[in-house]
Amino acid sequence: MNKRNPLLEISASKNDNGELVGRLPAEVSSENLLRRFSAQNPVKALRARCLDCCCGDASEVRKCVATECPSWPFRMGTNPFRKKPVLTETEKMRRAELLHGVPGKMV
Ligand code: SF4
Repeated sequence: MNKRNPLLEISASKNDNGELVGRLPAEVSSENLLRRFSAQNPVKALRARCLDCCCGDASEVRKCVATECPSWPFRMGTNPFRKKPVLTETEKMRRAELLHGVPGKMV
């Protein structure tokens, strides 16, 4: 059985003395990435990281006080910088028409 980890490679740097280092993710095949990682969305990956950080306890992730951590805004699995737009009824109707071509039909 081949136990080689497809996410690692032998370092090209002489300073690393032939040690294994992480490959550049963009150079790993999608097949190998999907075998190891279920989250393809970076925000979901951050959520998974936070759960790992808190030993899987979601309530501890919720209560995290490490506001200096770069993951902190994303720890609930959403991107707070991308707020869902609040649409007026007129805008909802306009978008429904664009989607369905039927005036007045709601999505
Ligand atoms: S935000 Fe909190 S829970 Fe998430 S990785 Fe950072 S310290 Fe851990």
